[in-house]
Amino acid sequence: MTVFGCNDCFGCANLRKSSYCIFNKQYKKTDYEEQIKEMELNTVIGVKKAQEKVREFWKTQPNKYHQGLKNLNSTGSYVTNCKNVNDSYLIRESENMRYCQYMQMPKNKECYDTTIWGANMELHYETCLSGENSYNLKFCVNCWPACRDDEYCMDLFSSSDCFGCIGLKKKQYCILNKQYSKEEYKTLVPKIKKHMDEMPYIDSQSLVYKYGEFFPSDFSLYGYNNTIAMQHFPITEEEAKKKGYTWIEVPRGEYAITKKIFELPDSIEEVNDSILKEVIECENCKNAYRILENELIFLRNEKLPLPNLCHDCRYERRINDRLKIQLYGRSCMCAGNVDSTGIYKNTIEHFHGDKPCEEKFKTGYNLDSKEIVYCEKCYQQEVY
Ligand SMILES: [Zn+2]
Ligand SMILES: [Zn+2]
Ligand SMILES: [Zn+2]
Repeated sequence: MTVFGCNDCFGCANLRKSSYCIFNKQYKKTDYEEQIKEMELNTVIGVKKAQEKVREFWKTQPNKYHQGLKNLNSTGSYVTNCKNVNDSYLIRESENMRYCQYMQMPKNKECYDTTIWGANMELHYETCLSGENSYNLKFCVNCWPACRDDEYCMDLFSSSDCFGCIGLKKKQYCILNKQYSKEEYKTLVPKIKKHMDEMPYIDSQSLVYKYGEFFPSDFSLYGYNNTIAMQHFPITEEEAKKKGYTWIEVPRGEYAITKKIFELPDSIEEVNDSILKEVIECENCKNAYRILENELIFLRNEKLPLPNLCHDCRYERRINDRLKIQLYGRSCMCAGNVDSTGIYKNTIEHFHGDKPCEEKFKTGYNLDSKEIVYCEKCYQQEVY
C-alpha cells in the first residue's frame, strides 16, 4: 500500500526505497526468501491467508487523505500532477477542471463534467468517450481525434462545426448529417437552439431537456447496470426503472461445468495442461470460466495458483479495492501521539504536539471506512 521505490517487499505500507521487508519488517535477503517460501503463495490456501493478513496489516497503518501526488488546489481521488482540478476522479497532468473523471491520458484543460478519456482535450463540457486533440465540444459522445466546435454529436472523426450529427468523417458545417454552407450553418444553429428551448424534449420522468442538457438517458444504448455508473452509484433494477434508466441483463452462455473449485489442485505445480479443456464453476457467482493457455503460462512463471473466481468476479474484487468517486468532508484522524482509534502509534512528535490535529479535508475514504486517514502534514511526518 502506497510504497515508492521499493523492490522485493511483501504486504508493506508507506515504505520508501526499501527491499526485503515483510509487513514493514526488515529481513536479510535469505531470511526474506525463506519467509516468502513458507507462505506457500503457489497454493490457493497460501494466497488466501496472505491476502487476509495483508488487509489486516494495512488497517493498522495511516493513509494519506488524498490518493494522488504533486497537485495544486485540487481535490478528488487518484488525481495527480494537476492544478485547479476539483471534485474529479482518476485524472493526470491536467488543469482547470471540475467534475471530470477517467481522464488519465495527459494533458487536458478547461473541462467540466467530462468522462473518459483525455489526451489533450480542451474546453469540453458534458462529453464522454472523447479526446485526442479535440477542442470545444459540448454534449458529444465518442468524437475524436481533432474534432472541434461540435455540439450534440456522436461518433465523429476529425470533424468540426457539426450539430446533431453521427458517424461523420472529416466534415464541416453539417446539421443532422446534412451539409450546409458556412453561412447557412451559422444562421441555422442559433435557430435550432432557440427551438430546443421553446419545444424541449421531455422524457418519461418529465425531465425537461432544453439546449444545454446532455442527451436523455432514454437514448442510452446500454443498461444502467452495464456501465461504470454502477460501480460508483449502485442501485437495484427496481430503483433504476423508477428513474427511467434501462436495465439490460446480458445473458451468459449455458456451459456444462466440468470442474468445481474443490476439484482444482491447490498448488500450481500440480496443474497439468488438461486444465485448459475444463469449464470451471466460479466460487462466487457460479458462472462458468476457463483458463487460457497464456494465463496458465503466466501463473506457472509467477508461481501463482489457479484463480477461484471468474473474470467478472476478479475484476469486481480489484475495482472494489479502489476508492469510489464520492468525496467526504472529514478531519484528520491523528489524535496526538496515536490515531483516534488507538491502533497506530506515531513515530515522532507532530506539529500539533499531543493535541488532536483536526485538519479538515475532502477525501475518498468514507466515514465508515476502517482505514486510518491522516492529513498531508501528519502523513508526511510519519512517512518521509
Ligand atoms: Zn464469478
Ligand atoms: Zn493531521
Ligand atoms: Zn498528527
